[in-house]
Amino acid sequence: MFEKILIANRGEIALRIHRACREMGIRTVAVHSEADADAMHVRLADESVCIGPPSSAASYLNIPSIMAAAEITNVDGIHPGYGFLSENAKFVDIVTEHGIKFIGPSADHIRQMGDKIQAKKTMKEFGVPCVPGSAGEVKTIEDAKVIALDIGYPVIIKASAGGGGRGMKVAKDEASISEAFSSARAESQIAFGNNAVYIEKYLTTPRHIEIQVLADGQGNVVHLGERDCSLQRRHQKALEETPSPAMNDKLRARIGKTVADAVREMNYEGVGTIEFLFENDEFYFIEMNTRLQVEHPVTEMVTGLDLVCEQIKVAAGQKLTIKQEDVTFSGHSIECRITAEDPNTFAPSPGRVLDFHAPGGLGVRVDSGLYSGYSVPPYYDSLIAKLIVHGANRKECLMRLNRALEEFVVSGIKTTLPLHQRLMQNKDFLAGDYNIHWLEKFIEEQS
Ligand code: ADP
Repeated sequence: MFEKILIANRGEIALRIHRACREMGIRTVAVHSEADADAMHVRLADESVCIGPPSSAASYLNIPSIMAAAEITNVDGIHPGYGFLSENAKFVDIVTEHGIKFIGPSADHIRQMGDKIQAKKTMKEFGVPCVPGSAGEVKTIEDAKVIALDIGYPVIIKASAGGGGRGMKVAKDEASISEAFSSARAESQIAFGNNAVYIEKYLTTPRHIEIQVLADGQGNVVHLGERDCSLQRRHQKALEETPSPAMNDKLRARIGKTVADAVREMNYEGVGTIEFLFENDEFYFIEMNTRLQVEHPVTEMVTGLDLVCEQIKVAAGQKLTIKQEDVTFSGHSIECRITAEDPNTFAPSPGRVLDFHAPGGLGVRVDSGLYSGYSVPPYYDSLIAKLIVHGANRKECLMRLNRALEEFVVSGIKTTLPLHQRLMQNKDFLAGDYNIHWLEKFIEEQS
């Protein structure tokens, strides 16, 4: 087992990882930018090292600086969290060359799944159903037109290196495909330094349903059920729940087995998420995330497993002790992502938090690094807290969530708490009747 882990991240996830390490008797090293010197994870870690100025490029993405911190503090593992360097294969190579274990999959698996065209090809070979579309990269507008005509409009042009909802453009008809194709390529070049794009059928009313897997790279794989992440704004998730209101045991067992078999074939190690669009009871693979996800706590709430702890154990070379038949799903869980943004315009709202009071009680969990007097820096992602609630069933979970949202106080800055409260009053949401476009319409109607 590891003796000391460096947490190459910030915010709530750095704290989350620190907590798992502390419970496992592993010492922690926090790295932080100059803007995060007062952050909660820095306060709680056993040691901390400042790795640079506020900008992410100069700090949390600064590989030489992070490696220097790892050498000075003599760690034997690095946990990347999500975002930042978590899916950077070059970083994994460097960490490994330094004789330090990267807590996550191999660089090869990250490369393979980070290239979405390659990921789709791989998954297809393993019998995972994919969204109909181009066989690979589409290089010219002429080719794009031929493919779009073949699969039928509307289509979506997506960056092969894409992530965070960027580099995606929808073309409704032939008149709009040239513009969509050129802008997806240009956006991808700017955001990812790579202009390779591919085309998919644009599904009009799907849900986003993803399957969590846990694998030890020694032939043992379990799936931990699904998360419904259909409530999105600009392709970014806002609220997640499990089980999905659209799933049943039969569908779950079927897709779970397909995914676990594919991951076993790949010889994958660590936690991973296979994302699907789900329409008319059919699953269509869109991508695999080779890391811990923001929304992992809802899975923890219904399975009773600590995903970060499991992730650390398999990284330490331990075999999975859980078998698929040991995985049980109990009750219902929902996570609200609370961001430092205006709940109507979504303008960022960094600044000093005057009062912070997190709700509590049975079945309520808050993952957040916030405290009264803390200043939310303007440089990073706006996620400041995750409110995760568990109930015996969806109805109880919703009632508890409503109660917890009422208790939650964050003053001094604007947050999306009021948006979540409004959601709790909506009959479609309460009925579980929504798809990936639903939240944007809801927000539009509210303004
Ligand atoms: P990213 O890696 O940028 O998050 P994804 O491929 O995971 O990109 O897609 C993000 C979201 O974009 C999906 O959850 C869905 O809302 C939308 N999307 C992606 N592909 C399609 C598609 N073929 N049809 C409809 N919506 C899509």
